[in-house]
Amino acid sequence: MKKKNKYNRILLKISGEFLKGNSGCNININFINSLVKQVQILVQSGVQVGLVVGGGNLFRGSDLEKIGIRRTISDQIGMLSTVMNGLLIYEFIKKSNIKTRIFSSTILEGLCERYRLDQVNNALENGEVTVLCFGLGIPLFTTDSAACVYGIEIKADILLKGTKVNGIYSSDPLKNSKAKLYKKLKYQEILNKQLKVMDHTSLVLAYEHKLPILVFNMYNPKILHDIFIIKNHIGTLISE
Ligand code: UDP
Repeated sequence: MKKKNKYNRILLKISGEFLKGNSGCNININFINSLVKQVQILVQSGVQVGLVVGGGNLFRGSDLEKIGIRRTISDQIGMLSTVMNGLLIYEFIKKSNIKTRIFSSTILEGLCERYRLDQVNNALENGEVTVLCFGLGIPLFTTDSAACVYGIEIKADILLKGTKVNGIYSSDPLKNSKAKLYKKLKYQEILNKQLKVMDHTSLVLAYEHKLPILVFNMYNPKILHDIFIIKNHIGTLISE
């Protein structure tokens, strides 16, 4: 009998900062290779995998605005940077002989397919790793908001949000060794405690549509395996 997976359909949010390297093309090849290997194992076990890619390693709208670029243009540049990262990840996935497709929320003919829910659902059902880029296609949003909207639309069982540390803490664990790691949090608690994990828009969306979010350490090279296999709790689960 086929083993049942903990989650059948996941949406993984990859922030641009994980792709940042310090030599050669400025790309963290080790991270990308580890990500692709982990995704491959999930796909082989029948998990449907969507990826939302950020662009913060290249451009963030809020930073560009500070140097005098109008916010809309700044955000368009930010969204285009998610396309570069998306193509990069798409290419590495494809090179590993994993079926994959890349979708964009705007028309980028010759680069990406246009995001259409039915096509994305078909791709996921066919076992194709589905890379989603250009955020929501509108300024003033983030790729975390895009991940929540897409997670809700595709009815992902969970939104996986990788971070630099093991989950959500009471304060910054890199600055305070006594910071407490939360195993579970309600959306409202994060908003009330003003914990820094995702912007409020994303959390409110997830809360209103009951999209569970797991926050975990993306630098652990076996993390996706652990999330699926290990019975003990991993990271911080945000839910009702
Ligand atoms: N962005 C946007 N609308 C969206 C998604 C992203 O305007 O729906 C822009 C915004 O300027 C953002 C940039 O794209 O700063 C890169 O995305 P993000 O900061 O979320 O990337 P990450 O921090 O996840 O790497």
